[in-house]
Amino acid sequence: MTAEFTPASSAAQKAEFGFELPRPTAAAKARALALLAELRRNYPNAHCELNYASPHELLVATILSAQATDVSVNKATPALFRAFPSPADYARSSPEQIEPFIRSIGLFRSKARSIHAAMTSLVTSFGGNVPQTMQELLTLRGVARKTAGVVLGNAFNINMNVVVDTHVHRLAQRLSLAPAGATVQQTERWLMALFPRDAWCELSHLLIFHGRYTCKARGVQCCQHPVCSDFSQRCELRVSAKPAKSAASKQPSKPSKPTGGKKRPRKESNL
Ligand code: SF4
Repeated sequence: MTAEFTPASSAAQKAEFGFELPRPTAAAKARALALLAELRRNYPNAHCELNYASPHELLVATILSAQATDVSVNKATPALFRAFPSPADYARSSPEQIEPFIRSIGLFRSKARSIHAAMTSLVTSFGGNVPQTMQELLTLRGVARKTAGVVLGNAFNINMNVVVDTHVHRLAQRLSLAPAGATVQQTERWLMALFPRDAWCELSHLLIFHGRYTCKARGVQCCQHPVCSDFSQRCELRVSAKPAKSAASKQPSKPSKPTGGKKRPRKESNL
């Protein structure tokens, strides 16, 4: 595969992103590429699980998804999108008129205010369209880097950041993709530095799928998963699962991963 990484110079990075990216080693980048391939092999259908049919619908759904599940958002949005088909329809209404449609979602009052204000800004400042730059998106109420990145990546195929939600943040630690104890902001920058730019949006979906369905916050019987066995280094659950390893190792190994009969070396992180 061809890997398009970020601009090499600090000045170019600052000009484009507003900050400098960390400088991982070549070995850490190679490990990240191997992890990307393994995630793709395990989650070929990873995608945005919010339902939407237009950029402004994705923006609304993403605002609603803060501290809420995609499932709960997807239950509320069909009626909401029918009642307010365009940004102008939201702008003509009021937060109180939006509230009944999203009452089942946490923080619905403040989200109704954010949606109303953001859609009004689209009408008054952006010709009724969702802007396609990080800088402009961040001017909208209720929109931070995570929401802006979701919209840019999924609605416009523009990779300006790696979206770091709770799953991505947790997995970046377990898979040693960011220094121990890294903040969300630091994690975002390490992921941008480690992975090819054209994979940033996809990477977020891949990690979210792995976090949602396998490497869960409270853990499950998961340490035989190939992503875990090759790449996890900091998971306390993996450590505590070690005594049960002999029983687990009697299970058949995954056939699709050729090992040549030898134990595969763990892909150690060397950021
Ligand atoms: S043991 Fe489970 S929770 Fe821990 S890294 Fe592996 S897959 Fe994730």
